[in-house]
Amino acid sequence: MRRPLIAGNWKMNKTPSEAKGFAQELIKALPVKTDVEILICPPYTALSLVADIVKNTPIKLGAQNMYWEAKGAFTGEISGEFLKDIGCEYVILGHSERRQYFGETDETVNKKLHAALTGNLKPIICIGERLSERETNLTFDVIQKQLQGGFMNVGNIENVVVAYEPVWAIGTGKTATPEQAQEVHKYIRNFIVDKYDKNTADKMRILYGGSVTPENIAVLMKQPDIDGALVGGASLKLDSFLQLTKAGS
Ligand code: PEP
Repeated sequence: MRRPLIAGNWKMNKTPSEAKGFAQELIKALPVKTDVEILICPPYTALSLVADIVKNTPIKLGAQNMYWEAKGAFTGEISGEFLKDIGCEYVILGHSERRQYFGETDETVNKKLHAALTGNLKPIICIGERLSERETNLTFDVIQKQLQGGFMNVGNIENVVVAYEPVWAIGTGKTATPEQAQEVHKYIRNFIVDKYDKNTADKMRILYGGSVTPENIAVLMKQPDIDGALVGGASLKLDSFLQLTKAGS
């Protein structure tokens, strides 16, 4: 019922010409029809070039961040309207690296979520606990707080995707076990049932992110509440990204 989504977060990697080459190779290598939805999120500087390449292909385009205002004196920022105009369908919001290095909070994520939905972008909201929080049994408290803050006054979440990304698993090679991930995914779905309704929760895709590789994706995807993956490192190489899209089916 929920179509799996395999999303590549390129972070600050690939120049525009590298990104262009990768997107061209990816299209050549992909089967015409895939069971999974495939998304790539290049840096801002490559979006326009990549948009031209993936247009009319099964590959979707997303950005890694956006600002909540539509336009104006906000030097260095990019609005949802700009992303939509380029051809983005998705936008990642509240990635843990943005929370850690750029001071993003549940409040700013919430503002961005409202703006993304108003601008008809599909937001991927990232949440997840730090190692110290997991070790002190605070995982569910942290997840609850991030969900409450992130979804504040948000009515229709039909197009929202949640990515559970334990901070200790991102870029570390320490993947959460399928059981650890499933437990949190189930908690997230139950939160959506309580805040919205069961129908909404049943339709919402919850991705796992944190050192996903071609070797571990299948066992993660077998979990009933894992509907895809948000992948950093392993999305940067053509071979491993292709394997991920196949294993995700
Ligand atoms: C990410 O960037 O969201 C991520 C999960 O990175 P990695 O796959 O490299 O852990």
